[in-house]
Order: sequence, then structure tokens, then C-alpha cells
Amino acid sequence: MEDVVVVGGGLAGFRFAQGLREAGYDGRVTIVSDERHLPYDRPPLSKQLLAGTCTEEQCALPGDAPDVSWVLGRRAERLDRGRQVVVLDDGTEVAYDGLLIASGRRARPWEGPVPASGVHTMRDLADTAAFRSEIGPDAKVVIVGAGFIGCEVAATLRKEGVDVTVVGVAPHPMPVMGPEVGARAMRIHEAQGVRFRLGRGVAGFEGEERVTGVRLDDGELLEATVVLVAIGSLPNSEWFADAGFSMDQGVVVCDATCTVLDGDGQPVAGVLAAGDIAAWPHHHGEGAVCIEHWSNARDMADLAARNLLLPVGERAAMAATASVPTFWSDQYDVKIKSAGFLRAADTWTIVEEDVEKPSLLAEGRRGGELVGAIAFNMNRSIIGYQRQLVAP
Ligand SMILES: Cc1cc2nc3c(=O)[nH]c(=O)nc-3n(C[C@H](O)[C@H](O)[C@H](O)COP(=O)(O)OP(=O)(O)OC[C@H]3O[C@@H](n4cnc5c(N)ncnc54)[C@H](O)[C@@H]3O)c2cc1C
Repeated sequence: MEDVVVVGGGLAGFRFAQGLREAGYDGRVTIVSDERHLPYDRPPLSKQLLAGTCTEEQCALPGDAPDVSWVLGRRAERLDRGRQVVVLDDGTEVAYDGLLIASGRRARPWEGPVPASGVHTMRDLADTAAFRSEIGPDAKVVIVGAGFIGCEVAATLRKEGVDVTVVGVAPHPMPVMGPEVGARAMRIHEAQGVRFRLGRGVAGFEGEERVTGVRLDDGELLEATVVLVAIGSLPNSEWFADAGFSMDQGVVVCDATCTVLDGDGQPVAGVLAAGDIAAWPHHHGEGAVCIEHWSNARDMADLAARNLLLPVGERAAMAATASVPTFWSDQYDVKIKSAGFLRAADTWTIVEEDVEKPSLLAEGRRGGELVGAIAFNMNRSIIGYQRQLVAP
């Protein structure tokens, strides 16, 4: 193998290239990214970078940048599988004999009309800078979407005393954690002064040049000087949509070795995928699952780097420990950690709780079987669950 091409300059692409070099691969590696920056870490965007407690430079990913050819500010437009080339937006063709698909996701935009300014999403450095620049002392911020990013941004802004209202369609915030944990999380936020409008949708935005409010579907009008739309993400899969790969909800499906599968479910030699753009067969999922967590991107990239250098039949599967998804989130002085595939749970039980600290430990089960655990300020407890939840 002489020419490895990576499409996507995020965590997965960066780690993969580091892994190839660590494994002794000395052929060409080209990373194509439509961002102008070298890869950086996204978790601080809604936390430290937004708070101003770290700089853009301090969002660098761990470890030295790998020795590769960087093609920055260029988008992959098309994959020609027959000729083994990636076609870029300026018509350049980049030939590969090994390819990593690591193009991740983008913020899901609001589908209806929005005022010309004041309505933001958050996925990259520029998004955080633009949103931050509009938050003055009298800002009234409405966050549309009560998932992790929405709640993290609410926490970051409330620590500065900014007026924040969070709107969400589910009856509790961060719905993947279940109603019991969600209700506790909501109380923590409310104690810090966040207002919630839950179980409600957004009908539209008020204002033409600049946003002035958010109209809810029950008619209530929330005054807003700045809005963050945090309603999930969309996969960046358009560039390989015609390549004949197996796809699920817009992401490419791999086997447990991170090798991409074709439409017949057969591994495609030389083509692997990692991170937020890839689904793989987790034992608690129904079919392949896409896990949009930092640690999943890292683990898949590490494995893909080892496997690309091996023939398809000799590739290692996701190691048992790496197959347990883990997630963290920082909100106020609460460190949220999870283990397992939380979406699989049909019931959640709080097994330990200290409201004053606050801390809690919750177990998620499906049909009685443990599938996930969540801890607030109980980091050590989650390690035990990581061990329990490894693939059989
Ligand atoms: C605000 C925020 C906070 C987060 N906080 C946490 C957290 O606390 N804990 C946690 O576990 N996870 C968190 N995450 C999720 C985590 O950051 C992602 O799981 C991780 O970034 C996925 O990495 P990736 O490399 O797969 O994709 P991405 O980071 O999306 O990188 C993909 C890269 O490919 C580029 N690209 C896309 N299409 C093309 C194309 N056609 N051609 C060229 N380049 C292309 C993109 O611009 C991007 O640079 C957070 C995410 C965000 C946005």
C-alpha cells in the first residue's frame, strides 16, 4: 500500500493518521478536509472555548500532528470507486489504494425560514466564535434543542449569568438518559436559573434582519436576542452517496473491523470508515449503530489504522473493551459520564443518589438486561460498568 487518503480532518482522521505512522507505515498519507484549520477537539466548543477559559490553539487534539500531506479548505465531492480516486471541489483527483472515510457530521440546520442574523448552530470553531461574539451583558438566549450540546451551552452561559431558555420537544432534557435522570438534570439546571419549555416545538422565529423572538407551537413567544439551534446533526455522506456502499440513516455501514461494506454486505478491500460518519454492529444495537461520541471516533480510528495494513481476512474486530461506548459531558460542577449503548434501554433505575452533592448512578436495562449506565460525579463507578458491558 503506497497511497492512503483520509477524507475528513476531525478526530477520527487525525487519530487514524497518527496510528498508521505509529504502526510503521511509511507510504504517502493525504488528509483532505474542508476546514482550513488542522484538526482540533470539538468538546471544548460548547464548554471551555465558549466560556473563554481556553483559546482556539488550546483546542488542539492530543499528540503531535502526524507527518502527512494536508489538503485543507478543500471538499471531497465524489468518490470514483472503480478508478480509486477522490474528486475534490476544484476538480483535483486524489488517487488511493487505501481510503478512510472520516467526514463526520455537521449541525442540523433549522429547516424553515430564519432571520438574517442572530440564529446560530455549533459544530466548528467559527460557529462558537460567531455565537460568543453576540452574547453581551443583556443577551436573552434561547436554545432550541435540549440535548447534550444545548444543555452544555446553557450551563456555560448561566455560569456567567446570561439569561437562558431551553426549548425541547421531549418532556425532559437529554432524553437518551431516560426520564428519571433527565428530571434530575433539569432540576440542576433550574437551580442555576435556566428556564425550560419542554414537550413543545418551535413554530418559527420572529424578526427579519435580526432575530427578536422564538414562537412556540402553543403560541408562546420567547423574547430572544440570540438563538442557538442545537437539534442534532446530519452526516457528511453526500460525496460517497453513489459509491454503492451499505448505508443506514445516511451513514456508511462497516463490519466490526471498521471495513466498509458494499450493498451486498461484503467488505470493500482498502476502504475503512471511522467516527461520526460510520455505523458498526454493536451487540446491543438492532443492526449497525452510529455512536456520536469522542471515544468512539478515537477507538474506531485506532483500530482502522491497524487493520488497513492487514488483508481483509486477517483484520481484528473491535476489541471488547473498545466496544463499550463511553461519553462525558460537563455541566456546572457536574461531570456526567456514561457507559454502554444508552439508546437501547427501555427502563432506567437510579441505584445511588446524593441530591446535595449532587451525584447519582443510574442503570439502563432492556428486558432486564443491563445495557448502559450513567453517573453524575461518580466517575469511578462507571469504570465497573464499562467492564460489565463488554461484548460477550
Ligand atoms: C459542540 C460539541 C461538543 C461535543 N462534546 C462532546 C463531549 O463532551 N463528549 C463526547 O464524547 N463527544 C462530544 N462531542 C462529539 C465529538 O466531538 C464527535 O463525536 C467527534 O468530533 C467525531 O469526530 P469525527 O472525526 O468522526 O467527525 P468530525 O469531528 O465531524 O470531523 C469530520 C471532519 O471532516 C470534514 N469534512 C466533512 N465532509 C467533508 C468532505 N466532503 N470533504 C472534506 N472534508 C470534509 C469536516 O469539516 C470535519 O472537519 C461534541 C461535539 C460537538 C460538535
